[in-house]
Amino acid sequence: MAHPKHDEVRQRYDACCGYCGVSDETVGGELTVDHFVPVALGGDESDENLVYACFRCNLFKADFHPTESDQRNGHVLLHPRRDDLAVHVRFDMTSGELIPLTETGRFHIVLLHLNRPALIAYRLRNRYQELLRARNELLEAEIAELQAIIGAQERYISHLKHLVDNDGDHNQP
Ligand SMILES: [Zn+2]
Repeated sequence: MAHPKHDEVRQRYDACCGYCGVSDETVGGELTVDHFVPVALGGDESDENLVYACFRCNLFKADFHPTESDQRNGHVLLHPRRDDLAVHVRFDMTSGELIPLTETGRFHIVLLHLNRPALIAYRLRNRYQELLRARNELLEAEIAELQAIIGAQERYISHLKHLVDNDGDHNQP
């Protein structure tokens, strides 16, 4: 059964998994609501504790919650809205992989299997589409520039024609 706050959480996360970024559209169905701190470990139903998550991330995360020794070692899960992911993880545009920048980042990636092949393919496809969009914009700008040049040349040619015609008139006896 869907979580009572499902729609609200979905809206807050823009229909995207807070952990890996796939959307309802990408996976072909609505995602799930994850308790960041598991209910069994005292997690509540507050906005902060409810994360929109895809089935896989939810599965890999399971009931993880850091113990004190985990926390000492930086082995914690990054909260999608509270933590700054960019501090701990970098996206490699060429390989499509997430590269850890900190021990916490490494742990986060491993726990959620964020370099699973389907996710890498997904990121590379997004990147490719971004590049295509940028290239398209560039081509459109080039076309507009060429059209402006053609327009200027047409005006110049018609000006020349006009001069030639007038010149012809003068030569009439
Ligand atoms: Zn996910």
